[in-house]
Amino acid sequence: MATLARARDILAELVAFPTISADSNLELIAYATELMSEVGARISIMRDESGTKANLFATLGPEGDGGIVLSGHSDVVPVVGQNWSSDPFVLREADGRLYGRGTCDMKGFIACCLAKAPDFAALELKRPLHFAFTYDEEVGCLGARTLVSELERMDLRPSAAIIGEPTLMRIIEGHKGCYEYTTEFRGRAGHASDPDRGVNAIEYAVRYISRLMALSEELKERAAKSNRFSPPWTTLQVGRFDGGSARNVIASHASVEWEMRPVADADAAFVKNNIQAYVDEVLRPAMQAVHAEADIVTQVIGEVEGLEPAAQSEARRIVSELTGLSEAEVVAFGTEAGLFQTAGISAVICGPGSIEQAHKPDEFISLEQLDACLGMLERLSAQLVR
Ligand SMILES: [Zn+2]
Repeated sequence: MATLARARDILAELVAFPTISADSNLELIAYATELMSEVGARISIMRDESGTKANLFATLGPEGDGGIVLSGHSDVVPVVGQNWSSDPFVLREADGRLYGRGTCDMKGFIACCLAKAPDFAALELKRPLHFAFTYDEEVGCLGARTLVSELERMDLRPSAAIIGEPTLMRIIEGHKGCYEYTTEFRGRAGHASDPDRGVNAIEYAVRYISRLMALSEELKERAAKSNRFSPPWTTLQVGRFDGGSARNVIASHASVEWEMRPVADADAAFVKNNIQAYVDEVLRPAMQAVHAEADIVTQVIGEVEGLEPAAQSEARRIVSELTGLSEAEVVAFGTEAGLFQTAGISAVICGPGSIEQAHKPDEFISLEQLDACLGMLERLSAQLVR
């Protein structure tokens, strides 16, 4: 119970750092670094290029390969436009639940790790235990990408990773990929009374979106009958659209933020090739016929690999032992797990809270789920001294 109270107090601190992906996470990382330093962890801080974001990678136990990574992202999604019952950055407890932005996704897991760190540190661990708290997961797993390449540079090979995204403490061994793009349309402004002399970026963006929607229908037909994902096909959607300046001005600019979640790499290639051909053969030539500098440019925000269920998985074996669960499932949401897997680190997802509450107003985690996570970490400590 003492540890649960400590986890709750740490969670209150973590929630109070408004680590929306667009903003810095350095204060949260400094706080977590302090807690990990206090228990004697070996610390490495990995900053992004801007210097405003960082990963914390902290290690307890022996040096070397074969360690276990407890991984969680420090960033949260925005709260704008959401109707919260209380300040999303002040932890509120009611009816056995803790409310606040990031409580389930996924500061609850980080709080459990930090609360258990003193216990882990007091033990003679037989293999390294790493804590990886990353930046910018919600905008393309950028921090985890840095982490994985830093581990390679350090020539450090942990063997298994537990990603504590909210799964209600069930074991998830597979998920779709997450590919995110922003496509910019650069047209030419002009007076609305003479549209043919300008290039209306919004009109081209709408045609682009229509093609994406047609492709999303085709993806449903492409799904293999055997796969376990829900829905079983690759999904594609446009999440944000922006463009123009005023009703009576031809829009010189538009942008489309879209994403897909492939069940197979081939689907991602299918969409990318198709939409690129449509741009190269139809849209861009039509725009440039009016204005040579007009263009359509797609920026890759992130292309995060899916997690493929593995026949032999050390991470699944470990977490099965910790949770007593023999079944592992697949989910539709993306995580950092695929990146670890691509780097040769066996990975599963298992963490407290429900994805149902993630990204929503009045996001919460139950105390019971935090306690269940602490129980898993307690059993992990027993496993690590054997
Ligand atoms: Zn998350």
